[in-house]
Amino acid sequence: MCQDHPEHTISRRGLFAGGLAMTVAGAAAATQATGQSAGPAPTSPEEALQRLMDGNARYVANEAINTDHSVGRNARAEGQQPFAAIVSCADSRVAPELIFDQGPGDLFVVRVAGNFINEDGLASLEFGAAVLGVQVIVVLGHTSCGAVSATIQSIQDKELPPGHLPSLVNALRPAVYDVMATGADNLLEAATAKNAVLNAEMASKAEPILAGMHEEGKLSSVAAVYDIATGKVEFL
Ligand SMILES: [Zn+2]
Repeated sequence: MCQDHPEHTISRRGLFAGGLAMTVAGAAAATQATGQSAGPAPTSPEEALQRLMDGNARYVANEAINTDHSVGRNARAEGQQPFAAIVSCADSRVAPELIFDQGPGDLFVVRVAGNFINEDGLASLEFGAAVLGVQVIVVLGHTSCGAVSATIQSIQDKELPPGHLPSLVNALRPAVYDVMATGADNLLEAATAKNAVLNAEMASKAEPILAGMHEEGKLSSVAAVYDIATGKVEFL
């Protein structure tokens, strides 16, 4: 956010003042600050989601087109207009711009181990959607997630991990309990998907900003799981 265009600074003041006029200002300040895949900006949540799906298909096929990250560098100094927000795990194998074959400036990424949305994450998403014009939020779980795995282990052992890790476990606990109650065969797989679904639902219902944008059809929130082995993103 430190590289915002001046208009975005004004917009942010508007946001903190409780107004939503910054939606318009943020869009007006937008530039073509995207990478090599930059075409016409998506005009709906559906188009934004399709752009991510197309990018993932290119990534899986090893046909990425966003390979020169210096393209658009000067334009990006003037502002940003990401079209999608990705809530992803901190896992080093999950790199949203690569997975979706997008360039710098395309994605607004919120990362935390276990890809859940806390207050800070929610505030970031509100900024991304209301000020920067993000049209789709993808909560992206992934296979072999250590955070989900540690939460399952903690519940089964009835023991909390050391340090600050209990805050992660507490955030992921609802998803694990949910799938335990259904008798899922593969707890890790089921809890990973459930956690993404629960957090996408939470984003869509987050009053007043995100919920309002969903009701107006300007924003959608979807859950997905990235398969580290195949590179494929499955939307749930
Ligand atoms: Zn993870």
